[in-house]
Amino acid sequence: MYQKILNEIFDEINGLDCQGKQADYIPELAKVSPGKFAVYLTELNGKGYGVGDIDDKFSLQSITKVFAFTLAYRLLDDNIFHHVGVEPSGDPFNSLIQLEQEHGMPRNPLINAGALAVCDVLIDELDNPEKDLFDFIRKIAQNDTVTYNQKVYQSEKTTGHRNRALIHLMKSFGRIKNDTEKVLDLYFKLSSVEMTVKELSRTFLLYANHGKLPGTGEQILSKSQTKRLNAIMQTCGFYDEAGEFTFRVGLPGKSGVGGGIAALHPGEYAVAVWSPLLNPKGNSVKGLKALELLTTKTGWSIF
Ligand code: GLN
Repeated sequence: MYQKILNEIFDEINGLDCQGKQADYIPELAKVSPGKFAVYLTELNGKGYGVGDIDDKFSLQSITKVFAFTLAYRLLDDNIFHHVGVEPSGDPFNSLIQLEQEHGMPRNPLINAGALAVCDVLIDELDNPEKDLFDFIRKIAQNDTVTYNQKVYQSEKTTGHRNRALIHLMKSFGRIKNDTEKVLDLYFKLSSVEMTVKELSRTFLLYANHGKLPGTGEQILSKSQTKRLNAIMQTCGFYDEAGEFTFRVGLPGKSGVGGGIAALHPGEYAVAVWSPLLNPKGNSVKGLKALELLTTKTGWSIF
């Protein structure tokens, strides 16, 4: 059934005259071919279905904020919420205004300020932060080859002025313990992780499987932590478009400015889509449409 639905989605989306543009504030991302499009859905039993450019790797960008938070939540449990909140921001992902008004406390872990605070916590908690974080991502992806793209990393490091502004603002409120460039370096490497849609949908299966890695059954997050993280994705995963995504798609998920979106149906499947053309809120235009069609055609969402 899923393959038939994905084929229909592919045909419908290909016929659309799609507006949108690549994220050009990270120059390396603006070079990605705008016509790329892929969808991959993996069921909990491991069966997968895909259409389009499913073997191309793309920059996960903010989608990896979910992985960094997963590790921090695992290490600190509820104490992580002394560092980041759980409220939707209703603001763009890199906005400074709210952070100033709220004394440097990020609203949630899925906006840039929140992920920077999580990276600061990881540097404190881990013996070898970069190695341990990447080992963790490889573990949940069940794939030893996952890494970051050097060019994208360098591109972000050179042009990441807003992220520098965010972390210095937090530091001025005493909210960042470590050296700001050290935290930014981990954040930029995290943002530059690449995967295919196939790999990404498999990595998100753990959130559809009550926190357990499919296959090995290893519990990465408790059932309750997973429920809460899915709630954070639902309310905060698309920044100031989280309401629209919930309204149109009805699944917890996370987007990135590389044009990817990962989403999941608890107990059923995880799905990843990729198309680099973004709307003004920084979310993939075709990606949103594809997921809207998926939950419309299957007739299932979490609501
Ligand atoms: N690396 C990007 C940034 O820091 C991530 C933003 C995103 O994907 N929304 O600006």
